[in-house]
Amino acid sequence: MPGLVLLRHPSSLEHDTGAHPESSRRIVAIERALSERDWLGWDMRLSPAASRAAIEAVHPARHLDRIAALSARGGGMIDMDTIASPGSYEAALHAAGGAVALVDALLGPEGAAAAASLHRPPGHHATAGRAMGFCLLNNVAIAAQHALDSCGARRVLILDWDVHHGNGTNDIFDDRDDVLFCSIHQSPLYPGSGPASDAGHGPGEGFTVNMPVPGGSGDAVFCSLVEHVVRPLAIAYEPDLVLISAGYDAHADDPLAGCVVSDAGYAALSASVRAIAHECGVPLGIVLEGGYDLGALARGVAITLEAAGAQPAHAAPEAALHPLAAQVRERLARGRWPSLG
Ligand SMILES: [Zn+2]
Repeated sequence: MPGLVLLRHPSSLEHDTGAHPESSRRIVAIERALSERDWLGWDMRLSPAASRAAIEAVHPARHLDRIAALSARGGGMIDMDTIASPGSYEAALHAAGGAVALVDALLGPEGAAAAASLHRPPGHHATAGRAMGFCLLNNVAIAAQHALDSCGARRVLILDWDVHHGNGTNDIFDDRDDVLFCSIHQSPLYPGSGPASDAGHGPGEGFTVNMPVPGGSGDAVFCSLVEHVVRPLAIAYEPDLVLISAGYDAHADDPLAGCVVSDAGYAALSASVRAIAHECGVPLGIVLEGGYDLGALARGVAITLEAAGAQPAHAAPEAALHPLAAQVRERLARGRWPSLG
């Protein structure tokens, strides 16, 4: 289908984590589900490796060199959760490259309406200088930085709906106002960061919007936060690009967390974000993060692509104003976002 671009690369299968929830089986499950549906009509492309320049706009060279060296000597543990294998460096380069190519498809001459980068390792826990939480390079941060540096974007909105806090992305853009980072995440949960009080620093104050939610939160909470917080924020912020750090581990079936979002919830969230991008008149990029129940993950990705590519768009869902969303609105309205009052 014109205007819908899906980026993938077989190197994602060569990041060998052994008996680990973040395994190559995730990509196999996603691609099987999508191929059974003829890729939903999306134009499938092989992701190039990211250039060093695109990666080094976010990560210091020594970070990349360390991953390269660890892969070259056969791999090993980076921390308790995070592993590199001989194929990990290539996989990470292409995961970052998919995120860069996604931005080029959306903001370059092609002007795609939506694009998805479906790779592993995921990225949102990686800080500028540290691989952690299954993540080596911060793919969505590299995408946002590329949009700002090379594609004429002035402002990028990232919505991270992975159930874990995107501490790496939060950290990378902490003191910046050209990226509005919004995260919905279960708390307490790994990595333990992302309290509501962490709202960015210096010129970035107010441009980090952390929305921790308790375990057991489901469709009502997630959808209300997107419709009643992220939507008005996006309208006030006027981004040139909307990116989703798309994890599917807030699903009720996920083994690593305790939220209870359903398939219908992901459909509603996806339709909401599509509608937000449409209202802002900007394209939508989807960058895969976590999701560890293979069925929920594969269905979730297909659901998001279906909503992102729907013509005409699915109606934005009705979402009641949940008390948690009302609290976040009040807090933001007292700070940099009076229009949310
Ligand atoms: Zn996660």
